[in-house]
Amino acid sequence: MIQKDIKSMELARVKEEIGQLGEKPFRAVQIYEWLHKKLCGSFDEMTNISRSLREKCKESFSLCTLHAVECLESEEDGTCKFLFRLPDGNVIESVLMRYRHGNSVCISSQVGCRMGCRFCASTLSGLVRNLMPSEMLEQVYQIQKITGERVSNIVVMGMGEPFDNYDNLVTFLRMVSDGNGLNISGRNVTVSTCGITPRIRQFAEEGFTANLALSLHAPKDADREGLMPVARMYPLAQVMEALDDYYKITKRRLTFEYSLIAGVNDSAGQAGELARLVKGKNCLVNLIPVNEVRERDFKRSDPRNIQNFKNILEKNGINVTIRREMGSDINAACGQLRKSYMDGR
Ligand code: SAH
Repeated sequence: MIQKDIKSMELARVKEEIGQLGEKPFRAVQIYEWLHKKLCGSFDEMTNISRSLREKCKESFSLCTLHAVECLESEEDGTCKFLFRLPDGNVIESVLMRYRHGNSVCISSQVGCRMGCRFCASTLSGLVRNLMPSEMLEQVYQIQKITGERVSNIVVMGMGEPFDNYDNLVTFLRMVSDGNGLNISGRNVTVSTCGITPRIRQFAEEGFTANLALSLHAPKDADREGLMPVARMYPLAQVMEALDDYYKITKRRLTFEYSLIAGVNDSAGQAGELARLVKGKNCLVNLIPVNEVRERDFKRSDPRNIQNFKNILEKNGINVTIRREMGSDINAACGQLRKSYMDGR
């Protein structure tokens, strides 16, 4: 018999499954809490569940568990990068960032990625597969267990395009915000997308108040298409309109991510165009000095250029930050650690 992945099931689904085993719904709540609040690793630890139900559960369900194969802690800022092995042997990356306001975990949503952004290491070997909700949850759970620290924020900004794994993403988000689980509200979650317009619209209707970040990287379609193949499918005018609608519905401030690449997207003219594009929106522009990836020849803009780019945006009244470099000593940029691990095998 194929065992079902119980850690990917929302509470209502667990109730149905437990009902089919001839048990009362409150048993499902107990099991759900063991899995998602107490972060328990086996059915035998569920001490308020009868032995016979535990045995039935062991037969019917699998318990997805991730194994940390590497944990690297930055000496600069305490950022930790984790390399996790999935039940099928694939590996993914997650990052723990420690801020004054709490701990934030950056999770992966896919093994690899098929979006093809030219500067990104995660996409170099294409998409292997989508992650299950359980595999997204486990990244957070394992980091809490390993560090003994509570996670208060989640950013879906690791490997993969979250809106290319939409249904599992939404299930994952419902489960992390469930009061019987970690109870992390949408306000403390950020989803980063390369701009899949129909999914932005669909996500606005899910009833979350999650924060949305758009990977912009160029203010004009022609330049953006050169960096991000997905831009050919979804022109900026459409993406921006979908973001405006997302804002109208959720009232969450938008973030635009802009990785600065020397001589490609960092000119004063492009800063001006970017300012015109986002002017009047409740938004933050996050400038990221591009992380140089060995397989790509993009170079990081020099600090003077970055400052100049920032000044132009500020003069136009745009909120802008330069992303604080976290964990640059531990290969913390998307997909780099996994890549070096796979290459080294
Ligand atoms: N697929 C999603 C989330 C993953 S990447 C997205 O596109 O938003 C998270 C952010 O890091 C994105 O803005 C991405 O464009 C950026 N990024 C990827 N590789 C990078 C690199 N080498 N240097 C700087 N930023 C990078």
